[in-house]
Parts: sequence; structure tokens; C-alpha cells
Amino acid sequence: MVRKLGDNSKSVVVIGAGIAGIQAALDLGDMGIKVYLVEKEPCIGGRMAQLDKTFPTLDCSICILAPKLSECYRHPNITLYTLAEVQKIEGSAGNFTVEVLKHPRYVKEGVCTNCGDCGSICPVRGVPNFFDADLVTQSAAQIAFPAAVPPVYRINPDVCLYLNYGICGLCYQNCGADAIDFTQKEEVIPVENVGAIIVATGVDLAENIHTLNVYGYQKYDNVVTAMEFERLICASGPQQGHLKTLTDGRTPKKIAFLQCIDSRNDRTQDYCSSVCCMYTTKEAMVAYEHDNELESYVFYIDLRAGGKGFQKFLLRGAEEYNIKYIKSKISHIEVDENQSPIITYENLESAEIKQMRFDLVVLATCIIPSLSNEKIAKILGIDLDKNRFIKTDPFFPIESSVPGIYTCGCAREPMDIPRSVAEASGAAARAAELVKGG
Ligand SMILES: Cc1cc2nc3c(=O)[nH]c(=O)nc-3n(C[C@H](O)[C@H](O)[C@H](O)COP(=O)(O)OP(=O)(O)OC[C@H]3O[C@@H](n4cnc5c(N)ncnc54)[C@H](O)[C@@H]3O)c2cc1C
Ligand code: SF4
Ligand code: SF4
Repeated sequence: MVRKLGDNSKSVVVIGAGIAGIQAALDLGDMGIKVYLVEKEPCIGGRMAQLDKTFPTLDCSICILAPKLSECYRHPNITLYTLAEVQKIEGSAGNFTVEVLKHPRYVKEGVCTNCGDCGSICPVRGVPNFFDADLVTQSAAQIAFPAAVPPVYRINPDVCLYLNYGICGLCYQNCGADAIDFTQKEEVIPVENVGAIIVATGVDLAENIHTLNVYGYQKYDNVVTAMEFERLICASGPQQGHLKTLTDGRTPKKIAFLQCIDSRNDRTQDYCSSVCCMYTTKEAMVAYEHDNELESYVFYIDLRAGGKGFQKFLLRGAEEYNIKYIKSKISHIEVDENQSPIITYENLESAEIKQMRFDLVVLATCIIPSLSNEKIAKILGIDLDKNRFIKTDPFFPIESSVPGIYTCGCAREPMDIPRSVAEASGAAARAAELVKGG
């Protein structure tokens, strides 16, 4: 049941609209509290929207997420600002004033019908699509994926010919709904009477090209990251879910999954990314469901399966999905004349140096905090830990160093979706307590 807003209600600002920010916003909205949800990207959903299936149930990720996306968009108590960031705050717990900077979309929300004609007619091609892990390109008039929320196109100002050189304008001339608006400017939106703020800025993925080069990433096409693999096996991804090698389109029969890439390493990130052991088994299981002749090998340091039912999930991987787990240390990767990767590794159980040939190698790259965390921490005056995650007290894990500012999900540390959702509800409850009284 959605409660109606009282006239003098204080509001809550939620920064970041991944699953954590969305859940916090929905909980607060359902309690009758006005929420301003601020997302820097053109659409909401964060990383979960990019995933194919989710462990441990192997449910379709977007099928679970999509109803929450549209509920968030239509919720009477939630105002969603996309392409937006918080640029200033004043005040203290119970009474903040927040300034939101909204960047122009150059397409009118509520008018665009998501028909895609602008994207088809735009002559600018080859713009990498972040949502598909840059594996496919799009035009300057773009939408991350057809079911994106809001379901509104955007003109990318970095590459649009009209916005940069005053030429073209084809999308404007051909938009039947008259939705393109090149006069849109940056907008500063003051939000007053804010009782609490929730930071849910989530994760980025480590792209330490030097370390990744050790594994042949970007040198060999058949070495991909786990996020790229999620898109490759997803029915809505660049290969329509029919997994193929990126060199000659073969169906891979043997895949290597390499764990802890840049995690748990003093030279890069010294912490565990927490979700890779589980999502790797999930990815191998999903690939096996596509082709049950597939052999998967997981090269690990040690397997961390701490959640409820997680150990059983890994056992199922070994028993039912032809996954072999090898405790090992990778030396290097090269390729043969067919561009098939050959891994040289030390088997840590037999202490032997071995080599094995694969069709595809998948790297479980480290989860790092949002690259915007330093900026947002400075604006909000909150502390970060030494790894740039939001600092919290071990006994108050959703409270930042500033009263009235809470955090949840991967903004605090790497965690899976169920934990992100639980923390989001916790942060929403604490924010509601402040806004409405105990
Ligand atoms: C390859 C891979 C596979 C995975 N598979 C699974 C799985 O099967 N099951 C599972 O439970 N978990 C899985 N996970 C983990 C899952 O992705 C995370 O638990 C989940 O995305 C965390 O949600 P979040 O909202 O905290 O962060 P995110 O999903 O990262 O969302 C954060 C949002 O905040 C926005 N944002 C960032 N900074 C700002 C800012 N300054 N201002 C405004 N907005 C901002 C971002 O654009 C983004 O939309 C996987 C992770 C990876 C990398
Ligand atoms: S901007 Fe116009 S042409 Fe482009 S998707 Fe929207 S309605 Fe269609
Ligand atoms: S005006 Fe920009 S977005 Fe529109 S068609 Fe031309 S280049 Fe593409």
C-alpha cells in the first residue's frame, strides 16, 4: 500500500539508482515519504540490469528487476532525476538542503515514444554502449537497452554532430513525436527540507590494464571480463545469448574462469570482491545450460562461498554442470594459431606446472567503489575507507561518518544483490526514523 504524502513531510535524497538505491527509494516511498532519486546515468538499474541470471537461484536478472524499475518510475512519492548528480549540500541531520545538477538529455521525457527512429537515422556510428560492456556500438541518438527506464532516448553530446558543429539535425527533422529539444540546458534543482540522505553509488570494475595485460586482455579477443561474459550469454546481449568465440564465431567447448583478478593483491586491491566465486559458477552453469558438451575450469586461490546454500551451489556446479575447480596460480596466457588461449599455471595441490588450451577465458575482475566516490564524499563531508568505499562503523554498518547520511549496497563494500537489498531496507528504515520520528 502506498501512503499519501502529508503537506509538511520531509523528504529523503537517494544517490545512485542501482538495486540498492531503488529498494531504499521504494521502501521510503511506500511509507509515504517523498524521495528524490538521483542517478548519474541516463537510465536506472545499475549493474543488476546488465546481468543475465543471478545466483544462487539462476533467476533471470532483468525479470526480477524490471517491475522494480517501472514501480520506481511511476511511484507517486518518488521523483527520479537521471543524468543528474548532487553538487552541494547544506544543513544537518533532519534538515539538509541539497542541490542537484541535471544534465540535458536533449530529448523530452514524457514526449519521446521510444520508437528508435532517431537512433536509426543518426549518421554517427561506432559509439561504444556501456550497457553491453562496450561490445557493441550505437549511434549518437541512443538508449542503453530497449527496456531501459526511463524509456526515453538521449542525444550523446560528446559525439552529436549538431551539438558539436551545428550540422546534421536529422533526428530532429525525423522525430514524429517532436521530442528532440536541442535548447535544453543544465539545470540546478534545489531540494529543500531533506531529512536524510542515502548514498548507494555502487561499484565500478577495476580496469587496471597493466594487470589485465598479464592475462592477455585486450591483446587476445578470446579473453573477456566476467561482465562482458554476462552480456555475451544474455539473450538481449550482442550475441543474442548464443555464446561464440570473438575471433571466429565458434561455439566454445572449453572455458577457463580465472578468479581474483586484481582482488586480494597488495599491488592492486587488497580485499576480496566477495561475489566472484559465486557468479563464476553461475556463469559456467548458464553456459552449460546453453550447451551440455561444455567443459568449464575454474582457476581459484580459494573458494569463498559463505552465504546460505552457497557451498551446495558450488557442489552442484561440479556434479551436474561439468565444472572442474583447480586450486592454482596462473603464470601467463598465450594463444595458438587459432587464437585459442593457452594457460600456463601451477596446480597448487599437486605442485606441478601445467598448460591447458581453451576456447575462451573469462576474468573475474575486481569490484571497486564507484569512481565518483571521492567527489561525492567531499560534497557530503563523509569519510571513505582506505579503499575508497564509504566508511561505516562495524556495529552501525549503514551509518556514514555524518549523522543523517546513510549508505547501503556496494557503496560500502562488495556484496551480492540479496545483501544490497537488505541493507537498502535498513538504510530506508533509519532514514524514515529521522524523517518521521521513532
Ligand atoms: C560480473 C558480475 C556478476 C554478478 N552476478 C551477481 C549475481 O549473479 N548475483 C548477485 O547477487 N550479485 C551479483 N553481482 C553483484 C551485483 O552486481 C551487486 O550486488 C549489485 O549490483 C549492487 O547494487 P548497488 O545498487 O549497490 O550498486 P550498482 O549496481 O553499482 O548501482 C549503483 C548505481 O549508482 C549510480 N551512481 C554511481 N555514482 C553516482 C553518483 N555520484 N551520483 C549518482 N549516481 C551514481 C550508478 O550509475 C549505478 O546506477 C555481480 C557483479 C558482477 C560485477
Ligand atoms: S526522440 Fe523521437 S525519434 Fe527518437 S525515440 Fe524518441 S520519439 Fe522516437
Ligand atoms: S543531430 Fe546528432 S544525434 Fe541527431 S542525427 Fe545528427 S548526429 Fe545524430
